[in-house]
Amino acid sequence: MQSENFIQDIVESDLAEGRVEKIRTRFPPEPNGYLHLGHAKAMYVDFGTAEKYGGKCNLFFDDTNPSKEKTEFVDAIRADIRWMGYTWDREVYASDFFDTIYAYAEKLIGMGKAFVCDLSAEEIKATRGTLTEPGTESPYRSRTPEENLKLFREMRDGKYADGEKCLRAKIDMASPNINLRDPVIYRILRAEHHRTGNKWCIYPMYDYAHPICDFLQGVTHSLCTLEFEDHRPLYDWVGITLGFAPKPRQIEFARLNVTNLVMSKRYLKKLVEEGTVHGWDDPRMPTLAGIRKRGIPPEAVRDFCARAGVAKAQSECEIGYFEAVVRDYLNLHAPRAMAVVDPLKLTITNYEGEEEVDFEINQLEEGAGTRKVKFSSTLYIERSDFSLDPPPKYYRLKPGGYVRLKNAYIIRADEVVRDENGEVTEVKCTYLPESRSGNDTSGIKAKGVLHWVEASSAVDAELRKYDHLLRDADYAGQDFSERLIRDSEHIFAAKAEPFLAENEGSYQLMRTGYYRAFREGGKLVLSEIVSLKDNFNK
Ligand code: ATP
Ligand code: MG
Repeated sequence: MQSENFIQDIVESDLAEGRVEKIRTRFPPEPNGYLHLGHAKAMYVDFGTAEKYGGKCNLFFDDTNPSKEKTEFVDAIRADIRWMGYTWDREVYASDFFDTIYAYAEKLIGMGKAFVCDLSAEEIKATRGTLTEPGTESPYRSRTPEENLKLFREMRDGKYADGEKCLRAKIDMASPNINLRDPVIYRILRAEHHRTGNKWCIYPMYDYAHPICDFLQGVTHSLCTLEFEDHRPLYDWVGITLGFAPKPRQIEFARLNVTNLVMSKRYLKKLVEEGTVHGWDDPRMPTLAGIRKRGIPPEAVRDFCARAGVAKAQSECEIGYFEAVVRDYLNLHAPRAMAVVDPLKLTITNYEGEEEVDFEINQLEEGAGTRKVKFSSTLYIERSDFSLDPPPKYYRLKPGGYVRLKNAYIIRADEVVRDENGEVTEVKCTYLPESRSGNDTSGIKAKGVLHWVEASSAVDAELRKYDHLLRDADYAGQDFSERLIRDSEHIFAAKAEPFLAENEGSYQLMRTGYYRAFREGGKLVLSEIVSLKDNFNK
């Protein structure tokens, strides 16, 4: 086994030197929204590291903030993790531990390591000092443990209004790390909790609760993103002060940032609420629900996370790289199918009856085989595949020119039918019976190969193409709303082979792109996953 990143290096040395016997990690979403691509990276790190070293990973719902959390999100998060193909060991909630977290607070009070403070949130902020100046000690800092205990219990029992008092750790107001300047560890908040209801009117703060929850779950390596690096001294203070053994170890890694994508639940929520997108699972959304709806397989997402790598340094990944990984995956695994956009009728005047031709499902996938596709004298091709007045080197259909119809015959265009406006409504052709694919003795070389759909069996489809939801940022910190592309969904009429209407899935539509086929209100929808061409230079 070979370490692939710095986290695995640490895990390997902890295992080799006997500091831990088996590793346990946790994936810690806050159930306040849907998971996004960034969370897939966190899952890759949390679940992936545990899997690799024969350990376990818990699903830990960080639900210390009752006003924003909902059971709807808990269910969606579970479904997304399963879809990604990960399995958790224990499912735990911070709220499972509220009693113990509370008991530890009384213990800190008894040790003289926590005190009840009457300063308001603003006053606490104002006395915290700056990066260059120390903070000012609270006038309530010297309360005795007995007094603190009495006040803290009264806080719990609902004697005080929201914000009237709080519990603070007593650490060091002069610490160069602001997180250690007597941080608030409990606040009074009357809000209904999605699991504990109205049992509590005080809630622990994340920085205090998290190390306790990790310890109580037996987490050995608590993996999180870089913004928690400055919080690690507090994480360690809680563990050391409360005598946790073995103490979990926090390791930070860089968040996944991707150009043209916003990975913030708060902003994604705004897009949903303002109706810019159709919902959390809109295919343009970077949520896992959106990615799934788009037709991107979970294997491609995992592959992307693995290739993007795990590092300590912040970086930004090109959206084109993500798309290239998706395209590579689909190229190897997606079945091929045919649909035409802006259809033009094509009649083969010397063909009679109908037959089935063998259509290769995917030449790149071993054993994918073929499937039968109906062929007759009346077909549709794409309007853009025919030209009356072709430029030089035009290998598609033109008057007198030959093309091959994919997996079928070579045809020659003979004449066109026009409507009253002069627009071409039909192309009449003849075919070469001896040119059947796989058994071509015609001796004619046709450079162009066109896809087609048999007309009598064709199904009407709505084809949807997408732009990115956001333009790339012009400058750092540019507001998301300035980058929003409001008109990013484009709808076209198409004709599809009937197979697509009966087999939901992700396809390579020949010469068109990668599309997901599904039914919506009885109608066939072909929704773009990613374009066919690789514009990204790996
Ligand atoms: P958001 O800002 O979107 O709300 P969050 O960090 O608040 O994200 P949580 O639900 O708290 O979301 O995160 C669960 C886990 O996923 C955490 O370990 C968090 O660090 C990680 N995570 C969130 N966003 C990313 C990202 N872009 N890249 C890697 N990990 C991420
Ligand atoms: Mg969060």
